[in-house]
Amino acid sequence: MSGTIVHVALFPSAGMGHLTPFLRLAAWLIDNHCQVGLITPHPTVSLAESELISRFLSAFPQVNQIHFHLLPLDAATANSTDPFYLCGVSLISSVIPVTESQCLANYILFTSSVRMLSFFSFFPSVLASRTSAGSGSASFDGDVEIPEILPIPNSSIPPLLLVPNNLFANIFMEDSAKLTKLNRFLVNSFEGLEAQTLQTLDEEKSVVYVSFGSRTAMKWPQIREIGDGLMRSGCRFLWVVEDKPVDRDEEENLDEVAEHELMERMRKQGLVMNTWVNQEEVSSHKAVAGFVSHCGWNSVIEAAYHGVPILAWPQNGDQKINAEVVVTNGLGMLMKNWGWGGEIFVKGEEIGEAIKELMGNELLKMKAAELKEEAR
Ligand code: UDP
Ligand code: UDP
Repeated sequence: MSGTIVHVALFPSAGMGHLTPFLRLAAWLIDNHCQVGLITPHPTVSLAESELISRFLSAFPQVNQIHFHLLPLDAATANSTDPFYLCGVSLISSVIPVTESQCLANYILFTSSVRMLSFFSFFPSVLASRTSAGSGSASFDGDVEIPEILPIPNSSIPPLLLVPNNLFANIFMEDSAKLTKLNRFLVNSFEGLEAQTLQTLDEEKSVVYVSFGSRTAMKWPQIREIGDGLMRSGCRFLWVVEDKPVDRDEEENLDEVAEHELMERMRKQGLVMNTWVNQEEVSSHKAVAGFVSHCGWNSVIEAAYHGVPILAWPQNGDQKINAEVVVTNGLGMLMKNWGWGGEIFVKGEEIGEAIKELMGNELLKMKAAELKEEAR
C-alpha cells in the first residue's frame, strides 16, 4: 500500500551461515523502503558474528537492534556441546506462537538448499508412514522418497536425526509440522542450481484428495483402514470422512477414525474433515495430484477438467459404470477386487499401495493432463 511503511523484524539463528544471508536480506529490505528491526540473540556465539553485526549497524544506523537474551541451555539436555547448535535450538521452536498471538505475518528464511527444505518438510510424514506400517517404532531404513525429487539416500540424513530421542530431532519434527502455519518461505537458490527441485516445490503435486461424494457413508472399520492406508502411502492428504449419508446427521466424531496418538501423527501428514468441502476448489489446487473417488459423475468430470488422476472405488448405483469410463480413458485406475464399497473389507496395506501407485504413475498423469486440455 502506498504511504504505509512496512516493518520487518529479522531473527537470525546462531552462526555466520545464518547471520550473513539475514543481513543481506535486511539490506535489500532497507533498499525497498522497509523499516528493519534486527533481533540479536545474546550471548553472541562467535567474534565473527559480533563484528559483523557491529559493522552492519554502523553502515545502516536506521536499523533498530533488539537484544534478545537467551536462557542458558545445558549441554546434557541438548545432547551436544556445539555452542552454535545450543543457541539455535533455544530459538527456532518458539517463534510461531509469539507471532501468531500478535497476528503478524510469519516468513522463514531457510538458510540451506531447496533440496534440504524438501527434506525438512517431508521427512516427518515419511517417518510417520514408516512408524504406522511397522511395529510402532520408527525405522530409518531405505532412501527417503519425496514425490518428484531424486530420492535422498539414507546415508545423507543429518546424523543427529538418527540419534533416538535427541532434542534436535524432536525440534526438527515439531518445526516441520509447523511449516504450514508460515505465510511464505524465502530460500537463497536459483534455477540453474536446483531447477528440478525448485519446479517441484513450486508445483508441489503431492497431495491426495479422498472423498466418496455427498451421499456415501462408510462403516467405521473400513474408514479406519483408509486412514491406515493413507499413512502407509506416505502422501500428504485431504480426506473427507463421512459415516452418515446426510451431512446434517454428522457429529463431531473424528476421534473414531483412530486412537489419539495415531490421530496426532495423521494430522502431521494430512487433513481429516467431516464437513462439506469445496471440492471444485480442492481438485483445481495445484498441489492435488490424485483423487480417491467413488466415481459419482460430477466428481469424475471435475477431476478430468482439472487433470487429476482417479483411484476409483465405486460404492453404489452408476459408479462402477462411470469407473469403467475412467479406466478406459486412462484417467484412473480401478481395483476390481475391492468390489462395491462395503462388499469387501479392504485392508490399509492394500489401500496404501494403491494410493502410492496412483500418485506415482506417470502414464496416468500424462493422460489426465491430455484430458484436461480436451475438457477445456
Ligand atoms: N565464512 C567466512 N570465513 C570463514 C568461514 C566461513 O567468511 O573463515 C562464511 C562463508 O562465506 C559463509 C558462512 O561463513 O557465508 C558459512 O556458512 P555455511 O552455510 O557455508 O556453513 P555453516 O557455517 O553454516 O556450517
Ligand atoms: N462435493 C463437494 N464437497 C463435498 C462433497 C461433494 O463440493 O464435500 C461436490 C462434488 O464436487 C460434486 C458433488 O458434490 O460436484 C457430488 O456429486 P457426485 O456426482 O460426484 O457424487 P454424489 O454425491 O452424487 O454421489
